[in-house]
Amino acid sequence: MVALIAESFEPLVAPKRLTVLGSTGSVGCSTLDLIGRDLDRYEVDALVGNSNVLRLAEQARAVNARCAVTADAKAYTALKAALSGTGIEVAAGPDAVIEAAQRPVDIVMASIVGAAGLAPTIAAARNGTTIGLANKECLVSGGTFFTSTAARAGAKILPVDSEHSAVFQVLNPDHRDQISRIILTASGGPFRTFSQAQLDAAGPEQALKHPNWSMGQKITIDSASLMNKGLELIEAFHLFDVDIDQLDVLVHPQSIIHSLVEYRDGSTLAQLGMPDMRTPIAYALAWPGRIEAPVAQLRLEQIGQLTFEALDEKRFPAVALCLAALARGGSATTVLNAANEIAVAEFLSKRIPFPGITALVSGVLDRAEGDDMLCPLTALDDVFAADAYGRRIAAELVASGFCSR
Ligand code: NAD
Ligand code: MG
Repeated sequence: MVALIAESFEPLVAPKRLTVLGSTGSVGCSTLDLIGRDLDRYEVDALVGNSNVLRLAEQARAVNARCAVTADAKAYTALKAALSGTGIEVAAGPDAVIEAAQRPVDIVMASIVGAAGLAPTIAAARNGTTIGLANKECLVSGGTFFTSTAARAGAKILPVDSEHSAVFQVLNPDHRDQISRIILTASGGPFRTFSQAQLDAAGPEQALKHPNWSMGQKITIDSASLMNKGLELIEAFHLFDVDIDQLDVLVHPQSIIHSLVEYRDGSTLAQLGMPDMRTPIAYALAWPGRIEAPVAQLRLEQIGQLTFEALDEKRFPAVALCLAALARGGSATTVLNAANEIAVAEFLSKRIPFPGITALVSGVLDRAEGDDMLCPLTALDDVFAADAYGRRIAAELVASGFCSR
């Protein structure tokens, strides 16, 4: 009886208002799957997508969003038509994306793919809005400019990438000085057991078959080249404020342990779960609390064995390349990210072979060093200039036959 009375007087908690940048993608859809199950707790303000306006309109109706925005200015009429009679505001074009990111909400889920996510995520961070950060490229590209902009505005960055969510869940900030290593686990991707000859001949169809995770195309290719793990080390460096030599990678093919934090007293803490992005997304959405997610519970007795391997840096040189760019500092990781985006697109179009991805990124970084193009990132324009340079040189190298099939 007492419990019943107490329950009936429980104060009503206002729903969390949320904007999703990249709502039509893999992380965006998983976010809306969670939100759609709990519309009393979450209220959707803006949904932002690119050219898939039919999916965007369907999502906006399903969660009763206030506004739907496509980055593709040419898609305005189609989006407007798809949402006619709903009262949902419609806008299009890059400026509209920035405006959507600036609308006052409790949390912005940053799940656009690539450096395209940087400007809107920075716009949200400048307002001091809490960011659920899936878009690792924005941190790799924006580096300390991104983190210092967010810190100045008081914007909290909640990691959504599964490895970083794992670290965030087990890292005790009061014991930061007692951390000896942050160890990111890597599945090893679809080519973990491939010989160099097999890697040389591998095509996009094979690279797109990730053994454990269902994700967008770009990150799936990054997972096959292990560039994803290198980008994630850079991401961890900026998120957790550790030294480069405290960052490590452990190949763990089952993707059950999502990452580990090692302390100087000999304790290693890890977060485990099934490989389903809805767990780290739910953690960011509910933080500092937790919510239920429709994810299969981990049954270790059914999994039986967890295995581990060292990374083979010879077959997968991308991780070392990322660490070298991180050590170089400033715009090196911006250039690396831009070159990688071009390299992935060129590989998907079958214009360069699989090992050509890392070779191209390495070639662009060498050229940037030679051209004396690497500089500190003090303004957003520095980031954009380094990004444009990396894309231009990568395209030039491909056109000149560098690493062609
Ligand atoms: P995706 O390709 O499935 O979706 C990308 C989204 O970005 C789509 O909604 C697309 O419309 C939008 N988009 C693309 N270009 C845009 C532009 N110029 N302006 C506005 N919107 C644009 O990608 P994803 O797999 O969901 O990954 C999104 C981000 O999350 C990436 O940075 C990725 O590295 C990161 N991430 C993804 C996963 C995963 O499981 N998919 C896991 C960890 C991290
Ligand atoms: Mg990850």
